[in-house]
Amino acid sequence: MTFTDFNLKESIQHAVAEAGFTEPSPVQQEAIPLVLDGHDMIAQAQTGTGKTAAFGLPIMSMMEADGSVEGLVIVPTRELAMQVSDELYRFGRNAGLRTATVYGGTSYSKQIDRIRQASIIIATPGRLQDLLKSNMIKISPKFVVLDEADEMLDMGFLDEIKNIFTFLPKERQTLMFSATMPKAIRKLAEEILENPKTVSITKSETTNTKITQQYYVVQEHERDDALVRLIDFKNPNKCIIFCRMKKEVDRLVAHLTAQGFKVSGLHGDMEQKQREVTIRAFKQGGIDIFVATDVAARGLDVNDVTHVFNYHIPFDSESYVHRIGRTGRGGKSGEAITLVSPNELRTIKRIEKDVGTQMSTEVIPTRVEVQNAKANELIAKIAETEVTEAAINLVKTLQHDLDIVTIAHLLASMIQGENAVKGKDKIGLDHAEIAKAFERSRDEKSSKNRGRGRAPRRRNDRDRNERGGDRRSKTRHHSGGGRDSRNGGRGSNRG
Ligand code: ADP
Ligand code: MG
Repeated sequence: MTFTDFNLKESIQHAVAEAGFTEPSPVQQEAIPLVLDGHDMIAQAQTGTGKTAAFGLPIMSMMEADGSVEGLVIVPTRELAMQVSDELYRFGRNAGLRTATVYGGTSYSKQIDRIRQASIIIATPGRLQDLLKSNMIKISPKFVVLDEADEMLDMGFLDEIKNIFTFLPKERQTLMFSATMPKAIRKLAEEILENPKTVSITKSETTNTKITQQYYVVQEHERDDALVRLIDFKNPNKCIIFCRMKKEVDRLVAHLTAQGFKVSGLHGDMEQKQREVTIRAFKQGGIDIFVATDVAARGLDVNDVTHVFNYHIPFDSESYVHRIGRTGRGGKSGEAITLVSPNELRTIKRIEKDVGTQMSTEVIPTRVEVQNAKANELIAKIAETEVTEAAINLVKTLQHDLDIVTIAHLLASMIQGENAVKGKDKIGLDHAEIAKAFERSRDEKSSKNRGRGRAPRRRNDRDRNERGGDRRSKTRHHSGGGRDSRNGGRGSNRG
């Protein structure tokens, strides 16, 4: 199937070809014909599956570019507004369709000017409601889209959304997109949609199949070491590490910075400006690692995120789906890696079942294994390196005092020292130990008769001790210049 199979306006088809899209994604294949037929629609599909084009292309194809606001797209965050706006502008510019982006924190007058010239508005709920309520703008869009509806509800925008709809014409085509379909979403759909068609990309397609999912079983106190080892081993281009709490984000940022990684935290309560600067640095490669909470990473769309790490398993399956959807975007492949303690094995099984995918159980590579892998990379890199004039002169100088083999040994040692893998050799559980842990967790479940499928959040004594261990290592960081004696620290080697 190609985009020419749809009945899209010529100028729009042209833009799709220019964007380099060849094959419509599953959600696009299903949604585009339904929207062109004039139906209301509720569509469920995982992030990164091309929902913007799924609604953008058909509604823009039906627009007349008559100078009025014909389309309204409501999105949860300012970033998403800018992003969706960019994509829609690209599709619509040849058709004479202008976009206006509407969000809080900037001047009203500029936005109102833009809205006067726009065919499509992309807006966050708060600012849009302000503009409508105060009569600063009057619009009667024929097409209304709620994008990432579940996130908007999670962020507490339900009242704003309901209120916005009181200002919109009854005669309209309404589309709702959501990665997940909790009850609140279905209820809202009943209120704002009329005879909607449902598009649900089935579970195996919901989680982007290009994302491989793995988990590693570690003891509580091994999480930091496991994380660093895995980053060393996987060598991610860009990665996001998810934590449960802001406190943990801060601690991990300090820890990883001390290890020489280019890392930054992403907080829900960061100022918008600061947040944008940080995200830009991440996009441009000034930062390789983001440590974030679920809330902070909402709507974050950065291409080339090769790995998502769950430092802790998320509390529910929906967060899991959202988190791993930050990688594998735009048809690229990605890896989602989750650290679980033996106590959390049942939680991971439940998430596997909910999400409908199978994750593979992996064993954390030993220090020697990572070292060998790095040595192989190094050999390949040496083979590719071109000899420079400066290098020839350097070797000439060295040869005054040393023979050529000694020089080679010294240079190799220097490079390897920079790449040295730290930490204890074995981290986490091996396959046999994981199997045992599974057995234990099943026994516990049947003997205690806890049949509800959710791992009980008990804090046993060992757990408490390990938490204490975490705290101690934090203190060490602050007082000891970031050197963690447990795994050597590498602040002096990297960065
Ligand atoms: P979603 O809204 O589902 O999270 P997006 O609409 O943001 O996904 O699309 C994710 C990325 O995939 C964007 O960079 C977009 O340009 C690209 N994309 C969308 N549809 C296609 C397609 N059919 N072929 C190639 N790339 C696509
Ligand atoms: Mg989207």
